[in-house]
Amino acid sequence: MGQHETGQDILQPLAIYIHWPFCRSLCPYCHFNRYVVDNVDEDAWERAFISELNYWKSRVGNRNVVSIFFGGGTPSLMSPDLVERILKTIYALWHVGDGVEITLEMNPTDQEKAGHFFHAGINRISMGVQSFHDETLVFLGRNHRVSDIQAALNHLKHVGLRYSFDLIYAHKNHQDHQQWGTELMLATPWIDDHVSIYQLTYEMGTPFYKKRHQELSDELVLHLESMTDKAFAPLGLQRYEVSNYAKPGATSIHNTMYWTYQDFLGLGPGAHGRISTIDDQGKAIKIATHNRGLPDQWMDSVHAHGHGLMLDQALTRSDRLQEQFLMGLRLKSGLDLNAVLDAGECLHPELIQRIHHCIQADLVMAPETPFSVDGALPYLILSNKGYCVLNSVVEFLCRGPMVMAA
Ligand code: SF4
Repeated sequence: MGQHETGQDILQPLAIYIHWPFCRSLCPYCHFNRYVVDNVDEDAWERAFISELNYWKSRVGNRNVVSIFFGGGTPSLMSPDLVERILKTIYALWHVGDGVEITLEMNPTDQEKAGHFFHAGINRISMGVQSFHDETLVFLGRNHRVSDIQAALNHLKHVGLRYSFDLIYAHKNHQDHQQWGTELMLATPWIDDHVSIYQLTYEMGTPFYKKRHQELSDELVLHLESMTDKAFAPLGLQRYEVSNYAKPGATSIHNTMYWTYQDFLGLGPGAHGRISTIDDQGKAIKIATHNRGLPDQWMDSVHAHGHGLMLDQALTRSDRLQEQFLMGLRLKSGLDLNAVLDAGECLHPELIQRIHHCIQADLVMAPETPFSVDGALPYLILSNKGYCVLNSVVEFLCRGPMVMAA
């Protein structure tokens, strides 16, 4: 993913996330911003998304759009015509590169619309499979079964759409690790070039929160993860991020924009964004944005102001560093320390000391090149042990000064 050149201009890459907040029913573990309603006025939603896109064009100017992601909720409930009109607007407003990744999250039960989404401009599907075990699908409150998944993935192959799918692991049915082994065996023949494996979390405010006593031990989770690595390796799938595996060249462009802390717009209710810009003093800053979560409030705000923002503010230097560490260390390739520094900065000796402490504790891999004051800095890569306690490592590394004037 690099920068795109048109004539003399170098356009900064940009990802666009579009949130469709509606679902057919609510899954008991889900903590996303989602709602069940009887009717959606798609014309009103189209006008609102187009208003937000125009608003953002006026703020960020011309960019090279490298990824567009329709997430939710269940964006496969959108009509393909609406998706097409949103895409046409994006193509009219920005430069969109040939290799653009345009992903739509789909429920298996919406598979008959796949061909229409393909013609609308979608080139990648992220399918909410969750499990290849009917009993687990019932437990997770999903309204599809394994036969629906198989029909849906067959249909995607027939249409010629690239796809990834999600699986959920580390729930009560995986107390018996052999059950996870069976699911992996059933899943592998269906994998295209990418798959996401999410650990079940028991979020406060969800019906599953009262089941948090069912959480599996760290040892068992680690065992399930190593089973996953072993099952996927013969397919050429590498774990390139905490929850994601891909074949070479098939990593998700959209999520990589998040993990490498590049710019993304968040459109629709509850969506987040991060935009780099320069402040009045000429300093590089990152703006954090967050849209109103309730669909009606978002819609009212877009009507009134052209956008649904309820938060629109520059992150502090320390917040920006913490986010960069949290996102970058999720990648197996590690965090590029050179990309963390603003002009005229170097790493603080106390941060280098904390990094050395993590190396000694076998949480961070020893870098091939040493930390020098003026030379190129190494990538910071977590060990397998560090990967398991990612949040604690980030918290430790960010505890104290991190950068200083060179
Ligand atoms: S379909 Fe997806 S977004 Fe909707 S409730 Fe279920 S998990 Fe959440």
